[in-house]
Amino acid sequence: MRTKQFKTESKKLMDMMINSIYTHKEIFLRELISNASDAIDKLYFRSLTDDSVELSRGDFAIRIDIDKASRSLTISDNGCGMTEEELESNLGTIAKSGSHAFKAEHAEDDTTEIDVIGQFGVGFYSAFMISDDVTVESRAFGSEQAYCWHSKGAEGYTISPCDKSDFGTKITLKVKEKTENEDYDEFLDEYRLSAIVKKYSDYIRYPIKMNMESRRLKEGSDNEYESFVEERTLNSMLPIWKKTKAELGEDEYNNFYQEKFYDYEKPLKVIHSTNEGAATFTSLLYIPSHAPFDYYTKAYEKGLRLYSKGVLISESCSELLPDYYSFVKGLIDSEDLSLNISREMLQHDHQLKLIAKTIEKQIKRELKKMMTQERENYEKFFKSFGMGLKHGVYNDYGLKKEELRDLLLFESSFEGKKTSLDEYVSRMPENQKSIYYACGESIEKIELLPQTEAVKDKGFEILYLTDYIDEFAIKVLAQHNEKPFCNICADDTGLDSDEEKESLKQENEEARPLLDTMKEALGDAVSAVRFTGKLKTHPVCLTSEGAVSLEMEKVLGAMPNSEGIKASLILDINAEHEIAARLKELFAGGEPEAVKDYAKLLYAQARLIEGLTLENPTEFSQLVCRLMLK
Ligand code: ADP
Ligand code: MG
Repeated sequence: MRTKQFKTESKKLMDMMINSIYTHKEIFLRELISNASDAIDKLYFRSLTDDSVELSRGDFAIRIDIDKASRSLTISDNGCGMTEEELESNLGTIAKSGSHAFKAEHAEDDTTEIDVIGQFGVGFYSAFMISDDVTVESRAFGSEQAYCWHSKGAEGYTISPCDKSDFGTKITLKVKEKTENEDYDEFLDEYRLSAIVKKYSDYIRYPIKMNMESRRLKEGSDNEYESFVEERTLNSMLPIWKKTKAELGEDEYNNFYQEKFYDYEKPLKVIHSTNEGAATFTSLLYIPSHAPFDYYTKAYEKGLRLYSKGVLISESCSELLPDYYSFVKGLIDSEDLSLNISREMLQHDHQLKLIAKTIEKQIKRELKKMMTQERENYEKFFKSFGMGLKHGVYNDYGLKKEELRDLLLFESSFEGKKTSLDEYVSRMPENQKSIYYACGESIEKIELLPQTEAVKDKGFEILYLTDYIDEFAIKVLAQHNEKPFCNICADDTGLDSDEEKESLKQENEEARPLLDTMKEALGDAVSAVRFTGKLKTHPVCLTSEGAVSLEMEKVLGAMPNSEGIKASLILDINAEHEIAARLKELFAGGEPEAVKDYAKLLYAQARLIEGLTLENPTEFSQLVCRLMLK
């Protein structure tokens, strides 16, 4: 018999194919099973139109058999099979796909019943990754004669007639011997093979069967076991996402999630939809009810599973999710993805982008709905993942702030509840011009701030920003519904009327020498000292002017290499407080040194109120003692 040459620059190509396009050897099984499924699809399609094919869906199956002794692994199907010519052209020509041709031929037909997977004409050769001796025995449906294609790899192949009792194809791989680096023996292990089938081919629509050894109690005995062999179907066939919502109960959705995404808790939300249009795909997404233990670490990887026609392409496709939705788990299954040749990735980025865009909108819509309709759940969600959303607002210079702003929740002075920005604005009285916020470690600490009292007294609500990222996000947002944000500790909070401002200005003018003396005592620690009307009962506070607030100074100061970032501060003294009168009295009485000490004391108090440390605690202690001994 003459050995024929592969019809391409094939030796090199074949070698490349076999050893470099796939990252995992195990996918050879996915490829061969996909081919078997395609072959069955083709015959099934014929059965729909050709009455001479007396077969129905239930007659079809794919089988896997192992013979450890001869190291052979067999994959057989009762699909359309191949004629001698088809063996020659489909398996003798690399990159020739009979399946692709089939699809092209039937492009006009209504082929919704079938779902051919093949397209490149290279998948078959992946068999050579784990075998250097491959035999394909095939008998085309309706033909009497079977043919055998045999190849030991790059050298070529032979085709000869053979006996085969039934139509279909049987592929036998002699599994390579174990080497130092590779353990090919795993491909002769029934449990390993069944796991590979589960992983990649669980949703192939025909049963994949294999004999598996099990143990059972011996009949009539209650402690003696015997092993026996039973045929098992390895795949679940119908992917749950292909069922309709009506067919699926909450339990089925939840069980699938817990099993496939390894969570011990039920998800908070299931999003299941079929999308048509620019990108046609089914998505089954889950919002977990808690953050995985590694969620806020670098080890956490976002991503969705990607299936093409029910066949697993990628276990975690990170491009499908933006970082701020990285908590979402789930999968995408699409009919019309153009995959790259190893079928491990998509060929065109824009398809992924389209899908990603669609699901991003979906997630947003569901979260918004949850916020308004299932508030308790949403607050639970936000507790776990809200931080990521706030980072999303802040990142990339606020590129995504518009998409995310109405998903945010903040603590608020309103009934001690969490509020969205829309809700806050809807409660604003006519005369309130800004959205007030205050920053601090905790709600309790913020409520103790001197400035809080005055704002609340006006009947205005305050957002309590207790996360370090909060104020950064607020700064990026800048306004909401055209209402600017205003830090109650900032210079101009807009709380005073024009008259009040005018009289205060006058008072400050008159007290200029006193205030200058105080400023002199504090040096560069503050940019000014002044009297204010915005404090109710508290004597002093620090007010920041400019872009960096005190809270930001604290956060930035905690980061490495951030020395020198300081808020510009004003020491505000309550003009109505007794201490103001006392200062004036001392100054008028010719005691500038006492005024300077008081300035230092008041500044120290203001720092302590803000939760800042003292720059010079020893001096503070001495000053207090001196005062006590007066
Ligand atoms: P693809 O599946 O992308 O077309 P493959 O290299 O996997 O490429 O297979 C090449 C061709 O060989 C297929 O298109 C099909 O025509 C034929 N073929 C492979 N396996 C079988 C099979 N089990 N039964 C019938 N035809 C097959
Ligand atoms: Mg194939």
